[in-house]
Amino acid sequence: MARYTGAVCRLCRREGQKLFLKGDRCYTDKCAITRRSYAPGQHGASKKKMSNYGLQLREKQKAKRIYGILEKQFRTYYERAEKMRGITGENLLKLLELRLDNVAFRLGYGASRNEARQLVTHGHFLINGKKVDIASYKLSVNDVISVCEKSRATEKFKVFAENPKTLPKWLSANPESFEATVIAEPAREDIDVPVNETLIVELYSK
Ligand code: SF4
Repeated sequence: MARYTGAVCRLCRREGQKLFLKGDRCYTDKCAITRRSYAPGQHGASKKKMSNYGLQLREKQKAKRIYGILEKQFRTYYERAEKMRGITGENLLKLLELRLDNVAFRLGYGASRNEARQLVTHGHFLINGKKVDIASYKLSVNDVISVCEKSRATEKFKVFAENPKTLPKWLSANPESFEATVIAEPAREDIDVPVNETLIVELYSK
């Protein structure tokens, strides 16, 4: 699946906030937002009032950038969310959260979603005992995510196991056995991304 391969700090500067796309560097004063908190480009520093459309567009771009998804796939997620029961915006975020690369990131495998995605595509994970290397794979309730036997012995995964992350309520994990389970679907209040999904729905429903 195609993905953005340009400079990621530009994306944060364009959205005017930290999107935490680079892992540890995002928490240091090397962060580009700390040093240059204006949009990139010739007119980046000039302040303009944004139209409603502009606000909706920026919110959609922000969500795409946080989850590392390009337009076509994002639109497909939206169309799927629209067909689901419930609130479209929340369904959209739920689908994005349940992607395997995002779940791996939530479990602490990788300092950023990008790193987690790389671990997935390199085949380090099993879902219900079967190898899955598709970053967009959608997890369901009761799915068990585990790390391949061979990968568990590597230094990288040992470090992950020694530094467990605080998990969202919809995941449970046992870092020692390198296993985790999706115990529920993520509720909106459990999704901590700084996105106003209503604006995205407004944009796509035009
Ligand atoms: Fe964004 Fe992280 Fe780059 Fe800062 S260091 S601009 S938070 S990707």
